[in-house]
Amino acid sequence: MGVYRCSDGSKVTQSQIDRRVRQAKAKKLQHCLDKYGYIFCQDCKRNDCKPVDCSHDVSVKECKESGKTELAWDVDNITLRGRSCHARKDKNDVQWNSNLN
Ligand SMILES: [Zn+2]
Repeated sequence: MGVYRCSDGSKVTQSQIDRRVRQAKAKKLQHCLDKYGYIFCQDCKRNDCKPVDCSHDVSVKECKESGKTELAWDVDNITLRGRSCHARKDKNDVQWNSNLN
């Protein structure tokens, strides 16, 4: 199984990453509920942008590749996005990545 580096030099496995990302997403959703009382897309802030997903600003893949794996479970790196905003962002990422190839 792959082992990935954090910027402090520590190493984590994929299963540790999965567990921490799951906790960070749960925390993000709870923050939104505590603050606003409901879950909504933080990109367009529309009530009808649904269903709402937890979306990474810096993708988990990028976090791992840059040796800053801890960003994958950084709550500040997670944004709540409705399905259409999430899809738009992922499409932009794909375009951006393909420009590098
Ligand atoms: Zn949206």
